[in-house]
Amino acid sequence: MKGVTVIAHPLVQHNLTRLRDKRTQPQEFRRILGQIASLMLHEATRDFAVRPVPVQTPLAAGRGYRLERDVALVPVLRAGLGMLDSILQLIPHARVGFIGLKREETTLRAQFYHKSFPKNLGRFEVVLIDPMLATGGSAVAALELVAEQGARHVRLVNLVAAPEGIRHVQRHFPRIPIFTAAIDKKLDERGYILPGLGDAGDRLFGT
Ligand code: URA
Repeated sequence: MKGVTVIAHPLVQHNLTRLRDKRTQPQEFRRILGQIASLMLHEATRDFAVRPVPVQTPLAAGRGYRLERDVALVPVLRAGLGMLDSILQLIPHARVGFIGLKREETTLRAQFYHKSFPKNLGRFEVVLIDPMLATGGSAVAALELVAEQGARHVRLVNLVAAPEGIRHVQRHFPRIPIFTAAIDKKLDERGYILPGLGDAGDRLFGT
């Protein structure tokens, strides 16, 4: 699918299968989701802009690279939290914003209950993190919100995506790159991804 990178790395796929397995309990689910998140971030940040800089080693002058822009990680609460810690291990200097969104049960529309961002979002690489891209309603609402805050370099990282959600995001934001470990079959009538892995928040926190 154009604009979507499916991360087919064997370790990602192996771990994803363990997350899908209904026997995987929250403690194990959290650990594996953390592992998979850092593997996915390697891929999802591959094209971050860098600029050459001089560096003085103990022995000689050399040349290295610095990231062109600061990085802002924005997990969508609550399931996005399950990917945050391990990504922060990878990018410890990143700032963290939060978007609290819940799906209104009858209409499946996204409603905000929390938002916080670093200042001047326009100068950041913004990584929106949400394990499940289902209807795409939350993703579009989150993308609209970061765009309102001035974000100009945004990418979406989802563990599992439904074709319906990808289409919805791409209708509203055709240029936003999406990184996922799997594009699943479809949504069920309640907006859950099939086969998916169930409710990612419930699986993470056991509630
Ligand atoms: N959110 C989830 O946690 N799981 C789904 O399948 C869809 C949305």
